[in-house]
Amino acid sequence: MSDIRPSGPTPVGNENPFSQPTPVAASPQGSTPSAPAYRCATQPRDTSAILVGCNNSISRYAAGATLQYYFDLDTFETQKEGRRALRHFKKAISAWRPVPVRFKRVYKRGEAFFSVVASNYDRRVYAEAFFPNDPVESRVLTVYPLAFQNHKAMYNVFCHELGHMLGLRHEFAGVSEQQDPSVRLGNANPRSIMNKFANLFDMTVQEEDIRDVVYFYTCNNVGGIPIDEVMP
Ligand SMILES: [Zn+2]
Repeated sequence: MSDIRPSGPTPVGNENPFSQPTPVAASPQGSTPSAPAYRCATQPRDTSAILVGCNNSISRYAAGATLQYYFDLDTFETQKEGRRALRHFKKAISAWRPVPVRFKRVYKRGEAFFSVVASNYDRRVYAEAFFPNDPVESRVLTVYPLAFQNHKAMYNVFCHELGHMLGLRHEFAGVSEQQDPSVRLGNANPRSIMNKFANLFDMTVQEEDIRDVVYFYTCNNVGGIPIDEVMP
């Protein structure tokens, strides 16, 4: 299959997975050969191209939308640590810049679409975010202690989590996250920011990720399946 797709990525598969009974995963997680990989809890059970759709529909924000966020510095161990995380978060937002969704920091929690907080609650994963069509109470980007072990990689962690927040599933969701169906848009891309990497620094936003997400934010449907637009 050619990689030149002048009219945008090709949706793969014509069936609407959201109109079918949710398949039951044969085994909960299975052992993956590339073991000590990036672990985030947004899709804890482990499917490149980009994969979209969750909660039984495909969702994204309206193109041109602004997501206001409250960065809760008080939840970090120290203000210094919080400010460092904030710098990484802003840099990660810039990495997704060509995508037509803007992010704006606000200083009142009540004005925010989502919050960014630090927590000690989960020590097995780096971070946890949300999808556009997740319920209001889930709109939190949580950073866990693992993410603080290597401060410089926090940028990579935020880039990945922002991918989820823009509507992306894991690269491997079609294989090991079948309990929550997804649709693939484009060709497989093992280098995608939404894949697993043994080295966090290898987890970066790729040109293909940007191209496919920009397309996702301009098309009306994916493989004939309509897209729900979330108004922030
Ligand atoms: Zn993830």
